[in-house]
Amino acid sequence: MMNYKLLTPGPLTTTDTVKKEMLFDHCTWDDDYKEITQEIRRKLLGLAHVGEPEYTCVLMQGSGTFGVESVLTSSAGPEDCLLIASNGAYGDRMADIAKHAGIPFIQYCEEYDRVPCADRIRELIQKNPEITHVSMVHSETTSGILNDIASVAKVVKEAGRVFIVDAMSSFGGVDIPVGDLGIDFIISSANKCIQGVPGFSFIICRRDELMKCNGKAPSLSLDLYSQWETMEKDGKWRFTSPTHTVLAFAQALREMEEEGGIEARSRRYAGNNRLLIEKLAELGIRPYIEGEYQGPIITTFFYPEDSSFSFEEMYRYIKERGYAIYPGKVTDADTFRIGNIGEIYEDDIIKLYGIIKEFLEDKENQENDREEQ
Ligand SMILES: *Cc1c(COP(=O)(O)O)cnc(C)c1O
Repeated sequence: MMNYKLLTPGPLTTTDTVKKEMLFDHCTWDDDYKEITQEIRRKLLGLAHVGEPEYTCVLMQGSGTFGVESVLTSSAGPEDCLLIASNGAYGDRMADIAKHAGIPFIQYCEEYDRVPCADRIRELIQKNPEITHVSMVHSETTSGILNDIASVAKVVKEAGRVFIVDAMSSFGGVDIPVGDLGIDFIISSANKCIQGVPGFSFIICRRDELMKCNGKAPSLSLDLYSQWETMEKDGKWRFTSPTHTVLAFAQALREMEEEGGIEARSRRYAGNNRLLIEKLAELGIRPYIEGEYQGPIITTFFYPEDSSFSFEEMYRYIKERGYAIYPGKVTDADTFRIGNIGEIYEDDIIKLYGIIKEFLEDKENQENDREEQ
């Protein structure tokens, strides 16, 4: 099979050196292995600009959603009320989780191309004083919009409520001052901006809020407090840990440091993103989100005006030439998405531009030929 690079928001293209770490079958109860877990937890706190004892870090088996579900169901219960500010599928998924777990919730739905408004959240808390927790997504991967968590954090903290952020597709790729914002739980996963492979999610928790989760979770395997309690002793995971993923992630963190940390990585991603939007504009392909709110991770583009455009056809054309892109996920327009995170550089963006340009030209030529016949 021909290899291709992923222009998707995770799993993403990783380095060969990250993949190579997975050739070792590590023993889980070995001290070296436990120390790797502890080092990962320490480094993640550093990336969030927080430290012990105010904050602590928990690693949780499974994909990103397992992390979100673990936090929501361990922190909020039937006696609480969750306010979910949503503007995409991942915000909707939080509501789905609350529904399944029987957590009372209020959903504030914003249009997919608009960011949730902090004033509206203040109003909702005033009108519904039973609200105990507020949750939202930072980078809504559905559209690529980057939500303003700073202004919402201010409102939530002033109101003394618990603030939960799904920063799955932004953590490590966008700098987030977790401590300054007073975020209580922030969730991301191994296979997004840190550039590891899939297998676990991680949660940075304000310790006093995590303590309140003791004995609260209705699920055994997603019990955030119990997971932390075991891991905190010496780095041992509760239940089998994804050893290969953990080794790859430790290497991904080292490579991130070598690149120059979040500062350098976010600069690279933002550069990729700017170039992508600029080059596709030359082809008449416009982004769905307007400038100011467009995030640096993934971009939703409208289909080109040409009525005979077929996404499947373009997808295949691009894949045969070494890249995989993403279908659209917004519900109100025909779109496709291109991610620019992972081992992706401006050179890749230029190549992709060339491929799409060629695809559109080929199509136009075919149509002209047909008309002439
Ligand atoms: C990737 C992602 C998730 C997690 O999705 P999984 O498929 O469970 O890994 C959650 N929220 C956002 C915003 C994401 O981008």
